[in-house]
Amino acid sequence: MAINSFRHNIPPETALSKNTKIRNGTHILYVSAEFEKYIDNALSFLTAGIELNQGILFIDSNKVRSIVVAKLQIQGVTKSQLESILFVDNEDFYEPSRPLNPDRMFRKFSETIGPLLKTGKPIRHWGKVIWLDGQVNLLEKLTKYEGCAQQFIKKVNSFGICAFDGMKLPATVQMEIMKFNQYIMSDNEFVVSSFYDKENLHPSIRKEMIYETAISSLRIAQSHYARIIEEMPDAVFITSRGNIAYTNKSALKLMKANTENLQHKVVWDIIDPAYHEEIKQKAANVLNKDRFSTCEVKLIAMTGKKVDVEVLSFPFVFEDKETIIHIARNIKERKENHELMIRNEKLEIAGQLAASIAHEIRNPLTAIKGFMKLAEQGSLNIKDVYPILDAEINRIETISSELLLLGKPVSTEIKVMDLSKLLYDICTFMQSQANMENVMLHFEIMDKPLFCRCNGDQVKQVFMNIIKNAIEAVPHGGKIMVYAKEADGHALFEIIDNGVGIPEDIQDRLGEPFYTTKEKGTGLGLMVCYNIIEQHNGHIRFYSAKGVGTTFTVSIPLDS
Ligand code: ADP
Ligand code: MG
Repeated sequence: MAINSFRHNIPPETALSKNTKIRNGTHILYVSAEFEKYIDNALSFLTAGIELNQGILFIDSNKVRSIVVAKLQIQGVTKSQLESILFVDNEDFYEPSRPLNPDRMFRKFSETIGPLLKTGKPIRHWGKVIWLDGQVNLLEKLTKYEGCAQQFIKKVNSFGICAFDGMKLPATVQMEIMKFNQYIMSDNEFVVSSFYDKENLHPSIRKEMIYETAISSLRIAQSHYARIIEEMPDAVFITSRGNIAYTNKSALKLMKANTENLQHKVVWDIIDPAYHEEIKQKAANVLNKDRFSTCEVKLIAMTGKKVDVEVLSFPFVFEDKETIIHIARNIKERKENHELMIRNEKLEIAGQLAASIAHEIRNPLTAIKGFMKLAEQGSLNIKDVYPILDAEINRIETISSELLLLGKPVSTEIKVMDLSKLLYDICTFMQSQANMENVMLHFEIMDKPLFCRCNGDQVKQVFMNIIKNAIEAVPHGGKIMVYAKEADGHALFEIIDNGVGIPEDIQDRLGEPFYTTKEKGTGLGLMVCYNIIEQHNGHIRFYSAKGVGTTFTVSIPLDS
């Protein structure tokens, strides 16, 4: 709105003369008794305005205009300074023969002062009011006018003097209109009005003022909220139909970008392609039903570097358009801690398994060595035992490669892989420990592949933890069954043991960090499992009865 755009150019205080300061929006009543002094005061009002380079509106008769112009010229006021004063004839302005309509009056004020508003300068105006001769309902007319002038002065943040001929203004009317003015001026004095009532406005004007105040508070609130979002420490992205419509400061920092880099960019350009499918599904859900959605993704900064973020998204109607607001938080540190924890647990397992693995590798090696000796002595045709040698060597290969994996740093790669195959390899690997403990590990794995989007290393670790717990829970001669199947769009894995079971009173504590019932336990295994599976949008559940055994189930959504 035009009015707001110039308001900030005007200082909160303005000078009435060089030595007198008044607030903007001040309304002054001037009741004059002597023409000479009136002219004198008008002149000092004008010269102060010229010296202070303010916009000046001067409404008076043509006669007064000629007098003041002549005097200003004598004082040395230049032609261009004179031309910058807006002189308006008071007969034209006040239209004394027409009834006063506050709306029309207000419009007239706005139109007249328009050219001065455009300059952006502070404004002062002077109006010589002329409705005094033989007017019916003079009081009503003047109070309406004063209310209107009061409102206008406030609206444009100017200050104004309403001048009256004291000889013609009845005392009763004078008393009434004093209520509309903060200051009262005579030819010789300038005083604060003790009758002033700032609420004293004509009802129609008052309504507008309330509306204006409400609109302006709303605008202030809006800009306040906009700033809060702009300054938020979390990155905020607003997207509309897959295009980036807004990014706050933190988002630009996170993306190492400036506004132009990102404005109207397609959102897919800044997300690691590995996450596109998941995000597409989530975006559809946000707009359709779920009001909020969270996910973890990698964004690609302008430098090409990938940034791990956790994103909360929700729909928002903005300027009649359906948009989605995304609040992203950098989770590099959290992720690193998480990865460190997984790695520690992995190394712990590797250490614990080392003995059984060494033992397990020694067995096939002994067999191979034996066959070679026999072949050397000529009592065995080595070709006859090729299938056995092949199987034994494969076994060593599987075991050693799994062992190598345990020592490797945690990979963050997510890809579609067959979890049937993965579980098969793990069972083969874990067989060594089961054998050493004299435990039977039986696995029944569907022929059909179970394709899931996952981090293979981490899912392996989950199976290994759970199978290892089962081996530790069963007595010598115990039994563990492992099944893999498909159920309800999920890959479902069951690890069933006939071990000691988990007492009911500790079941809730499983998965708590460092909660263990074992002398050499870490109490971290299940916590890591829960963490990993949660990140894969899956579940881990268990059923257990003391002395009977425990069933752990792991389910992970199939890649559709
Ligand atoms: P840890 O194996 O180092 O103790 P975990 O987090 O792997 O740590 O397991 C926590 C606890 O859960 C174990 O100490 C054990 O009491 C219990 N637990 C886990 N799996 C089984 C199971 N199959 N049978 C019985 N108890 C189990
Ligand atoms: Mg464990």
